[in-house]
Amino acid sequence: MKINTDVLIIGAGPVGCVIAERLSNELNLKCKIIENRDHIAGNCYDAYNKKGVLYHKYGPHYLRFKNKKTYDYLSKFTKWIEGDYIVKSVVNKKLYSFPINLDTLENFFNVKLKNKNEAINFLKKKIIKIKNPKNSEEVILNKLGRQIYDNFYKNYTIKQWGISPKKLDKSVAGRVPIRFNRNPFYVNEKLRFMPKHGFTQLFKNMTKNKNISIIFNTDYFKIKNKINVKYFTIYTGTPDRFFNFKYGKLDWRSLRFVFKTHKKKLIQECVQYNYPNDHKFTRKVEIKHVTKQKTNYTVISKEFPTNNGDPYYPIINKKNLSKFKKYEKLMNNEMKNNIFFEGRLARYKYFNTDEVIESALVLYKKLKKTYKNLVKS
Ligand SMILES: Cc1cc2nc3c(=O)[nH]c(=O)nc-3n(C[C@H](O)[C@H](O)[C@H](O)COP(=O)(O)OP(=O)(O)OC[C@H]3O[C@@H](n4cnc5c(N)ncnc54)[C@H](O)[C@@H]3O)c2cc1C
Repeated sequence: MKINTDVLIIGAGPVGCVIAERLSNELNLKCKIIENRDHIAGNCYDAYNKKGVLYHKYGPHYLRFKNKKTYDYLSKFTKWIEGDYIVKSVVNKKLYSFPINLDTLENFFNVKLKNKNEAINFLKKKIIKIKNPKNSEEVILNKLGRQIYDNFYKNYTIKQWGISPKKLDKSVAGRVPIRFNRNPFYVNEKLRFMPKHGFTQLFKNMTKNKNISIIFNTDYFKIKNKINVKYFTIYTGTPDRFFNFKYGKLDWRSLRFVFKTHKKKLIQECVQYNYPNDHKFTRKVEIKHVTKQKTNYTVISKEFPTNNGDPYYPIINKKNLSKFKKYEKLMNNEMKNNIFFEGRLARYKYFNTDEVIESALVLYKKLKKTYKNLVKS
């Protein structure tokens, strides 16, 4: 049987939900979403376990906003609780503030550093000057020196990515802030908020319009030929798959999560402990610190990086980037057929949730314009 729709959306993640919400509520268009998994919200998905604890199935999502407009848009679908995300690194069995800040430097080197100038002067004796750092190792050696690199970054990066930091683009290490103040928060953004009733509820509220329907547990490529699309197709999956791997496979890093429920109010001091040098897992997360749920149970998740599994992190290196550029050309070319690509998978980019939502809102404006022209002609 044929499926007829105004708009076809592949993927019920944040991008798919935002596009469906805008097009159905603003332009009254029928949107059909096809989703591989059995739920909405993509990798932001959260759910209650058997003991009633809200947990993040695909890794902790610390929502923050670069742009107040994105926060305002999402506020239509949720109330908020403050997001005070604090992470510590466990080095030689001691807990240190992470990202590196004045407290980390003081405690690790056993010195007193009053301010930024003192820290920079102190680090001058430690850093290894490299004129144009070319990879993730060189970025950190140049900014913080060998001891911090070896204890906090090197092994964590090897575990996380499965390759030497020397082979990783400098932007990867460059993502983690380095601070010369005592700001303890994991992220730099000041707008840090978590959806009060979770991400899944937020995206459910977003997709309430009766013009939106979702087909779950279905791979788009298996039913592709059964769908008639009147106006637009929006694809949020991986680009190589869309073009039948014409230029080969893009590499992704994945994670295996191990969750354990404990009959305790809280176990850790803060939401995330990084383990750069011990264990096979990279981090232990106790999400209750940010969901702020009031229950007698808590969940700890351990993350084991792997090359097999869902595509979570694009592996940014020369080989993958040059392959992606070729796919990008093909994607741009599809615009003339009213097929659009958006999101973390399609753009092969380490986008945070607020960033993909912002991109989806920009795409919506483009679709709206195109639609107005289509119905005029
Ligand atoms: C481990 C991890 C931790 C993260 N932590 C944070 C964080 O702390 N803060 C933050 O802001 N962001 C975080 N993110 C990023 C956030 O998850 C993404 O920015 C966001 O989910 C991207 O939304 P999206 O719609 O582009 O893609 P996704 O969320 O990946 O959704 C895409 C959906 O499309 C579906 N799909 C793909 N191909 C097909 C197909 N062929 N047929 C049918 N369905 C298909 C998938 O099943 C998926 O549900 C994290 C991501 C990961 C992986």
